[in-house]
Amino acid sequence: MRAAAIIVSGGSGSRMGRPKQFLPLAGLTVAEWSLRCFVDMAEVESVVLVLGEDSFREHGARLSGGKVKVVAAGPTRMGSVRAGFAALPDNVEIVAVHDGARSMITPEIVRATFAEAAKSGAAVAAVPVKDTLKIVERSETRLVSETPERARFWAAQTPQTYRYSILKEALEKFAGEADATDESQLVERCGHKVAVVESSYENFKITTPEDITMATAIIEAREGGRRESRAGFGYDIHRLVEGRELWLAGVKLPHTKGLLGHSDGDAVLHACCDAVLGALGLGEIGIAFPPTDPKFKGLESKAIVAHVLAKTAAFGGEIVHLDATLIAEEPKLKPHYEKLKASLSALFQLPESRVSLKAKSNEGLDAIGRGEAIACHAVATVLAP
Ligand code: MG
Repeated sequence: MRAAAIIVSGGSGSRMGRPKQFLPLAGLTVAEWSLRCFVDMAEVESVVLVLGEDSFREHGARLSGGKVKVVAAGPTRMGSVRAGFAALPDNVEIVAVHDGARSMITPEIVRATFAEAAKSGAAVAAVPVKDTLKIVERSETRLVSETPERARFWAAQTPQTYRYSILKEALEKFAGEADATDESQLVERCGHKVAVVESSYENFKITTPEDITMATAIIEAREGGRRESRAGFGYDIHRLVEGRELWLAGVKLPHTKGLLGHSDGDAVLHACCDAVLGALGLGEIGIAFPPTDPKFKGLESKAIVAHVLAKTAAFGGEIVHLDATLIAEEPKLKPHYEKLKASLSALFQLPESRVSLKAKSNEGLDAIGRGEAIACHAVATVLAP
């Protein structure tokens, strides 16, 4: 069966203050997680993403290409489904309509709806309702008029998947219909049977800010186990000289000497940045910040960290752990551990539980042992896209 998907992400997100579809979520955005699920499924030949006007202008060009076509939303949800339907290629046989705010959709659920719709014509992902439902009188007294039998209630989600001809018939027959909250009720009103496919409670719709917290936890738990984890190693050394400030891990430490360098000489940040770039195969910091370029003289190494974070994000990587070992004869660094660690975690936007910092002396050996230099080794653990 030639399968396609319409992802509807046209809402204004009034409950979130701004359109929720492009709120950041676990390294992507709400809508892009939905999009990725369908794009990654080999059996889905084309995907139409329907975006609200502003999002369409901002993200339309970026997200279209390959099997993805982006179109502008209609004034209502049904209008958006119609706009998406009109953009489907010819000879599609089966169409999944998905709500872009259900970012936790999985290929398994989508496939189950494809199989059921191929068999019976229309299939809706749904979950059995867990709470006991009450029918309440429409009055201020809020009196319960009835407690229906819970076993018969299912909460409808998406995807809602149809044979192309059935969805076409419903959209045409109810062309003036603006208020339907899903298409399957139109399909039902056409007299077609709609089957329910048991989905997952994790496939909920992101509606309120606290939903983002839950969604992040779910996606990170899934992705963390699946994404390739890479280790990167970084090393740096700078001479310790009179007349310079001592900067380590983004903190200015009280000392009579400081690290000599074109930048502020922060060996910890340099080693950590190189470790992150190493894990992603993106080179080293000297490429973007050559020590020969006079415009980087006196550069704060925090700017290098910001550059590395931006490169990591653009690559789709995610830093999950940093471990740095300083080698210094002087000053004694143990009293500063907490401050250095807090700074490192703030600069790399990691919780402190994911940052490790320690220091060793060089036992009086070599240049470091003579107090002429401070070095740092770092290992970064990064999740690849
Ligand atoms: Mg350096």
